[in-house]
Amino acid sequence: MKFNQNKIRFALRFLTGILFVMILTSGRCSNQNNKEEKENANSGIEVKFSQTDWRKEAKEMVDHQIRSRNVSNKSVLKVMEETPRHNFVPDSYRRYAYTDQPLPIGEGQTISQPYIVALMTELLELQGDEKVLEIGTGSGYQAAILSQLTREVYTIEIVEPLYELSTAILEQMGFDNVKVKLGDGYQGWIEHAPFDAIIITAAPPEIPPKLIEQLKPGGKMVLPVGTVTQELKVVTKTLDGKIMERTEIGVRFVPMVHPKDSLKKNR
Ligand code: SAH
Repeated sequence: MKFNQNKIRFALRFLTGILFVMILTSGRCSNQNNKEEKENANSGIEVKFSQTDWRKEAKEMVDHQIRSRNVSNKSVLKVMEETPRHNFVPDSYRRYAYTDQPLPIGEGQTISQPYIVALMTELLELQGDEKVLEIGTGSGYQAAILSQLTREVYTIEIVEPLYELSTAILEQMGFDNVKVKLGDGYQGWIEHAPFDAIIITAAPPEIPPKLIEQLKPGGKMVLPVGTVTQELKVVTKTLDGKIMERTEIGVRFVPMVHPKDSLKKNR
């Protein structure tokens, strides 16, 4: 009898052991599956980020690429962390949406590197009540960032398919204080001028005079200037109308084109 009880106890322990090992290995399998799911998700067109995935990536982007390079404005960092950048990038590049580089958005244009977006936004020193003009809507990402930091955003794009795409995404995401116009940024947007701040996200060879005119006294313009080599500049118009400028860093942007040049290119 005693012998049988021992045998049963031994058999039970043996079975519990097997069960334990099975649970462990099945756990490992499901981790593996999760990893595979993620890898598959990252490999294709139509990549969908889950809520937690993109938030984690956006936080890492802000910590490692932006805060670490001394952009410190808390509101700018918060908005960069909370804006789903992958929504502004073509499907085939979505997996790189939070990496430290500019990305193609079609029509030979690019969405700027996250650090540059953050730096230019910080340099505008927005308080929250400004009317801002952006030249070069592109994907709409910079406009989306600005829209969360100020009262009104006006943005001009010269390439029609980009204008259409960015208008749709900004509307879909509910950034309704942003107005997009198809046109030539060199002309500014006279109906809504003057602007408290102007940001140009394509590089003109020199500061466009009409944009200087449309900048309010006391206002700020942030832009890359140059052709082969470019510099990121902060231009201020003093209250008595004087123009002051300083250079921040060397940069590389797509050129700001004139309508006749863009027509030639499309032919
Ligand atoms: N701010 C954009 C990046 C834009 S790339 C973003 O967040 O994605 C520069 C953009 O400027 C391109 O889309 C280009 O078509 C546009 N552009 C170039 N010359 C222009 C001009 N004269 N007027 C308006 N947009 C212009």
